[in-house]
Amino acid sequence: MSRQYAIAIDGPSGAGKSSLAQRCAKAFGIIYVDTGAIYRTVGLAAYRQGIDRKDEEAVSQILPGLQIEMRYDDNGEQRMYLNGEDVSREIRMPEISICASDVSALPKVRAFLLEMQRQLARENNVIMDGRDIGTVVLPDAELKIFLTASAQARAERRVKQLEEKGVKADFAEVLRDIQYRDDQDSNRAAAPLRAAEDAVLLDTTEIDFDASFAKLCEIIEERLGVLPTGEAS
Ligand code: C5P
Repeated sequence: MSRQYAIAIDGPSGAGKSSLAQRCAKAFGIIYVDTGAIYRTVGLAAYRQGIDRKDEEAVSQILPGLQIEMRYDDNGEQRMYLNGEDVSREIRMPEISICASDVSALPKVRAFLLEMQRQLARENNVIMDGRDIGTVVLPDAELKIFLTASAQARAERRVKQLEEKGVKADFAEVLRDIQYRDDQDSNRAAAPLRAAEDAVLLDTTEIDFDASFAKLCEIIEERLGVLPTGEAS
């Protein structure tokens, strides 16, 4: 399939980007690309090798030895492979979130991953989420969304999500993690988190998941003139 459009979704951690983008991808029959998972995979590699994740030279030395692949399973879920090993579960551990945020601040890491992300959007209609998709990775995306919610609301949702998975979570700790990543992602010199000038702002602080999904579909239909075709619509 040749590409007709790309949708970029940026925003802070825990704003619901991946759940919403995943559901939209199913609804519109396009591919969802979770770029955070790619940074998490590099973060995991650095963590396993025990190197200082803020040391650009040390991290850049391991990059040529990393074979990072994104594959889709039979359910259409994105899975990440590091040197042939499926690391999709491990990259979700809270300490790896912090590692991902640390390595993603390094320009050499961002440059290393840029082409991989662009290639996916050249070959497919995509909905891609991250921090710099509309500003750096796909500045020509046909639609850019900046999805946000207050830190308090995002932490509450994350705690609920973890509890649903049977993981006991401490609210104060989750909020601290979110604030750490917000601060680091927004204030770094390389591709900081910010809304593209032409992005549509969607604040979900006061609305639930279904209402956010409905709003997102409405924006896509209106801006791109495409209608949902798939199962989740
Ligand atoms: O989206 P997720 O929380 O899984 O991303 C993990 C970390 O990767 C983020 O905290 C952010 O620092 C980094 N990231 C990034 N640019 C992207 C996607 C993620 O810097 N496009």
